[in-house]
Amino acid sequence: MRIDILTIFPEMFEGPFNHSIIKRAIDRSLAEIHLHDIREYSTNKHKKVDDYAYGGGAGMVMTCQPIARLIEKLKSERTYDEIIFTSPDGEVLNQGISNKMSSYENIMILCGHYKGVDQRIRDLYITKELSIGDYVLTGGELAAAVIADSFIRLIPGVLNDETSALSDSFQDNLLSPPVYTRPYNFEGHQVPDILLSGNDKKIDEWRYEQALQRTKERRPDLLNKEI
Ligand code: SAH
Repeated sequence: MRIDILTIFPEMFEGPFNHSIIKRAIDRSLAEIHLHDIREYSTNKHKKVDDYAYGGGAGMVMTCQPIARLIEKLKSERTYDEIIFTSPDGEVLNQGISNKMSSYENIMILCGHYKGVDQRIRDLYITKELSIGDYVLTGGELAAAVIADSFIRLIPGVLNDETSALSDSFQDNLLSPPVYTRPYNFEGHQVPDILLSGNDKKIDEWRYEQALQRTKERRPDLLNKEI
């Protein structure tokens, strides 16, 4: 999978993709992330990328010209499965979307800033608008990092144990059961004995029951959702 991220703050991505599982996926060429600085595509002599909003009101709006030029350039180089805009008014990201998109070959993610981007960019180029939740961030960079992370970890071969993604929360519309590691006894609190029984079938049943109970308590809405 190749992900092109379009941003006015490429430095913001130095952290999220340079550690742990995502870094390993990139090092092993299972995923490629290309950062593009929108500012470099501005034809304005001061490399301006924003302007006042028509109709007045507080907040700047990201202009069409540099974004359109960058998107056109990338589109002339390869075919994109999806051109995503990060936006609080988009469809809220969930595991189903991540599962589907993790099989895509090329995606673009456009990060907004200030009041957002000129609507015409959204109308002309964007094929999918994604929100990471019902709250407002200062920019789309953190959202793009979240989106990319959730896609990349699902690419086959990225996680060491292939089955570990399948038992994560939201797969099968269930939250994850509790997990324990050594020591058996932590300050008087013991690990449930069933997990030490060596009986795989019983352990699976216990985990399923725990997952179901946790989902009923915390997210009953998931149980009625179509997968
Ligand atoms: N005026 C806009 C918010 C602008 S926030 C509104 O009220 O809808 C600036 C940028 O941050 C947005 O363009 C978007 O790219 C990003 N952003 C903010 N909140 C987000 C969220 N919940 N999910 C995804 N992107 C978000």
